[in-house]
Amino acid sequence: MPKWVLYPGAIVLGYVVWRLGISTLRALAGPAPGTLDTEKPPDEPEDVEDLDVFLVCGECGTEFKVSRLGELQIPRHCGEKMFVERRPGTV
Ligand SMILES: [Zn+2]
Repeated sequence: MPKWVLYPGAIVLGYVVWRLGISTLRALAGPAPGTLDTEKPPDEPEDVEDLDVFLVCGECGTEFKVSRLGELQIPRHCGEKMFVERRPGTV
């Protein structure tokens, strides 16, 4: 490859990397102004890993942490259905 190709090539490559970095940062920073959508995301299946959702047994107090809702079958404990309890995230 001739040397005169390398310099523009490096500049283009640098530009592409820079653009990728900017778009990655924008994606991490959240939606751009004006694109905020007021509709809530669909409820199911719901990734609740960031929320703290527990299945709590009302009889003995046993708790299970739930990481995903959607195909959730409420289990029984002590012969009673467990409660679904949402708590503020501890993250
Ligand atoms: Zn129980």
